[in-house]
Amino acid sequence: MAKSPEVKLAVFGRAGVGKSALVVRFLTRRFIWEYDPTLESTYRHQANVDDEVVAMEILDTAGQEDLQQRESHMRWGDGFIIVYDITDRGSFEDVAPLRSLLEDVKKPKNVPLVLVGNKCDLDHARQVGTEEGERLAAEMACAFYECSACADEGGAVAEAFHEVCREVRRR
Ligand code: GDP
Ligand code: MG
Repeated sequence: MAKSPEVKLAVFGRAGVGKSALVVRFLTRRFIWEYDPTLESTYRHQANVDDEVVAMEILDTAGQEDLQQRESHMRWGDGFIIVYDITDRGSFEDVAPLRSLLEDVKKPKNVPLVLVGNKCDLDHARQVGTEEGERLAAEMACAFYECSACADEGGAVAEAFHEVCREVRRR
């Protein structure tokens, strides 16, 4: 039997945006309210993406690493999710610098990337408009999803993870 393609996926974004909650939601379809924010973990997961079994390795970064650690995570990954929190404008402002660093580390390759605006269940506290997310994603030429790790009704979380796999497989 042919070996499943392997995809190494790293999740970036400011501490507190919900990276761990999103990864856990994707892996278990559950939401865990409190997750050690200083923890960095990798997970192995087999996902069925467009009728193909993909062996994923997912790195959930802590979001507080120094530049050297961050660059080494970027070198490790094949595909990336950058997450911001729609209720935290600062986390949105962190996206562009992260993406520049990615480009620097990965050049001359163009980088499989998905942008996620998380916590869209907290619409009353929104600081970043949906159009702003869309515009930034268009500038970065990547897919964009607004989702919620705790109220993932439409399955947008899994869709975001699957889309990065597709991007990686297209290269
Ligand atoms: P990380 O530092 O990026 O890994 O963020 P965490 O996954 O640890 O989440 C930080 C905080 O945000 C925790 O208190 C979570 O319960 C909360 N959180 C994460 N995702 C969501 C979400 O989609 N909606 C809401 N309301 N809270 C969330
Ligand atoms: Mg975390």
